[in-house]
Amino acid sequence: GRLRRFPASQEGALLGGGVPGEECEWPDLLTSKECQVRARVREYCETKVFAQAAELWENAIHPKALWEGLGALGVGGGTTPSAYGGAGLSLVGAGLVNMELARVDGSLSAIYMIAGCLVTNTIVKLGSEAQKKKYLPQLCAHRTVGSWALTEAEAGSDASGLRTLATPLGGGLWQLDGRKRWIGNAPVASLIIIWARHAETGNTLAFAVEPGSTAGVSVKTMRGKVGLRAIQNGEIFLDGATVKEEARLPGVKSFADAAGVLAQSRVMVTWQPVGLAQGLYDVCLRHVKERMQFGVPLAASQVVQHKLMLMRANCNAMALYAWRLTRRFEQGEASGPDAALAKAWVTLRGRECASIGRELLGGDGLLAGSHVGKAFADMEAYYTYEGTFDINLLVAGRAHTGISAIRPRM
Ligand SMILES: Cc1cc2nc3c(=O)[nH]c(=O)nc-3n(C[C@H](O)[C@H](O)[C@H](O)COP(=O)(O)OP(=O)(O)OC[C@H]3O[C@@H](n4cnc5c(N)ncnc54)[C@H](O)[C@@H]3O)c2cc1C
Repeated sequence: GRLRRFPASQEGALLGGGVPGEECEWPDLLTSKECQVRARVREYCETKVFAQAAELWENAIHPKALWEGLGALGVGGGTTPSAYGGAGLSLVGAGLVNMELARVDGSLSAIYMIAGCLVTNTIVKLGSEAQKKKYLPQLCAHRTVGSWALTEAEAGSDASGLRTLATPLGGGLWQLDGRKRWIGNAPVASLIIIWARHAETGNTLAFAVEPGSTAGVSVKTMRGKVGLRAIQNGEIFLDGATVKEEARLPGVKSFADAAGVLAQSRVMVTWQPVGLAQGLYDVCLRHVKERMQFGVPLAASQVVQHKLMLMRANCNAMALYAWRLTRRFEQGEASGPDAALAKAWVTLRGRECASIGRELLGGDGLLAGSHVGKAFADMEAYYTYEGTFDINLLVAGRAHTGISAIRPRM
């Protein structure tokens, strides 16, 4: 049940793996720099990531060496400007990195999406010049890992109801008290962006916190996750943690600033199910051509071809939706609700692909080592994080109808 090489790793098929000329190759839709970035990451994933991903996933180990190796590919920090050590990619370019990583390993893609896109973009958009100079070069070189902490035990979908408090102590100091949950990368991060509420005014604030050197901050790894097992999720305990005013992100004025950076990261997340589904399709295509039952390849069955083509069409539509959303976002034409709708829809179709793919591999579809079992479980996390399917539809629904149905009434 353990796949030895990724399907498209044959020579000459570096950008292939599917039907020649398929929409997903889109040479007409990408700039040459975007094509190069995509090819570079794809090659890295097929030759380096794939060999280790299933074992790291099964043992729930942070892929430190793979993360550092990815840093050498010149994609660190996604859209972060080169002046701060970033790759200066277009938003589509950063999306393609997320997609190619997810095609082979959903966890590494999640690590990159959080540390390489969300954290860096938050500092670029909302941080001080000193914070940019201090943190971005290290983060973009993948010498460190960043983390972004909004979710709490009592504030999940209702993220604006966060309860972590920031109390001004005078003398340029703040005290942080609260508890965060589900925070990706937190156990391995040297920098965590902590979202909190001003204890007196109730305003939303954010702080750049270094957990290793801040008393009163402790991080506990969450165990037993059944999807995205290689990314380390943590609970963060803030018990009278004292930080300096210099740690506060000066650009944060209200919760709308958190929503603003989340809108862009939702655009990035939209590419992850696209990649995961593409990887599932690639593995399934090869499997049904090679696996013999009743004296013929599985692919000789109409039912099998039918299932496979549903996956193929989903992959094409998902990819084109992500591409169109992202280009419009780059040009300032797409909004947060547009990103929410796209993220929700691609995860719905992605879940369908994962379900069909798992079926096509039979029992092996339940094994992490077949790639399909791992991707099937990872798709569940994509469906839920960065705003659940329901919440993203409600955000889009509010924009289209003018009526908010997000906060239920009793
Ligand atoms: C792998 C993973 C990584 C994550 N990484 C991070 C991270 O790095 N940083 C961070 O801050 N957070 C992170 N999260 C948290 C994530 O954003 C939350 O899990 C998500 O927002 C949902 O919140 P919840 O789990 O509390 O579910 P709940 O809010 O309790 O929702 C439970 C169910 O109720 C539904 N629901 C809730 N409210 C409504 C409503 N009004 N109408 C209809 N249905 C509703 C939801 O859709 C869902 O199906 C991560 C989560 C996961 C699983």
